[in-house]
Amino acid sequence: MTGRLAGLTAVVTASAQGIGRASVLAMAREGAKVMATDIDADKLEPLSAVEGVTLRQLDVLDAQAIAEFAAQVPAPDILFNCAGYVHNGTVLACDEAAFDFSIGLNVRAMYRMIRAFLPGMLDRSGGSIINMASVASSVIGAPNRFIYGTTKAAVIGLTKSVAVDYVTKGIRANAICPGTVDSPSLHERMRAQGDYETARAAFISRQPMGRLGTPEEVAELVVYLASPETAFMTGNAIVLDGGWTNA
Ligand code: NAD
Repeated sequence: MTGRLAGLTAVVTASAQGIGRASVLAMAREGAKVMATDIDADKLEPLSAVEGVTLRQLDVLDAQAIAEFAAQVPAPDILFNCAGYVHNGTVLACDEAAFDFSIGLNVRAMYRMIRAFLPGMLDRSGGSIINMASVASSVIGAPNRFIYGTTKAAVIGLTKSVAVDYVTKGIRANAICPGTVDSPSLHERMRAQGDYETARAAFISRQPMGRLGTPEEVAELVVYLASPETAFMTGNAIVLDGGWTNA
């Protein structure tokens, strides 16, 4: 197999749809052996036909499942922590249960995945960890994204901390901060607002380019951060947001 990731292995969380799925496909196309994981085994199944991809059901909220997984497979060269959940609401609309759920899925799951696989990466003196943040984080405040933005800011801090602690050990850690990306859960969020077309127009209007991002565009950044081309990059929070924050 040739490609920018030839000879490398990857583990991806939340691979069954959206950015995670597009990233599995892009990394496999570039020659990586990819273990695609998701809580939903049925939704993962179509990826079984893709060369270089193996599947594993994994709920990243389940600490024991993560530990068992890490005990069964060698640490990958690339760990893409993609799982995350968008809670809609202000601080007053975020009760304790919603707060805990988002911290658990958006932050603690990454902490657990990194603790599970980093020792093996250190044994090999190599690894690229890619964590899914968002521009709705420490980059910018977005309306009704209180706990989402809080957790995604934590992802950036977590990423920088891992990057600095292991910078001399061959480990890189970078975070990705997309604007609004056209994924299945985005459509659910649009439908949940009642008037789908109005919600869609509102999401698009905050993107100065006048369109949503695509999962494939984000996947290209995942490949880039995974590849040896970015061997000198670590501790970054990279924005790709159609100009939302900078144009
Ligand atoms: P999505 O939300 O459409 O899909 C999420 C996937 O996560 C699903 O396949 C689901 O089965 C899986 N999942 C849910 N709970 C899980 C769990 N406990 N364990 C394992 N898998 C679980 O995908 P998306 O919109 O592409 O979002 C992916 C990531 O990108 C998230 O972290 C999200 O916050 C981030 N992000 C998305 C956007 C966007 O606009 N779509 C923008 C910025 C950042």
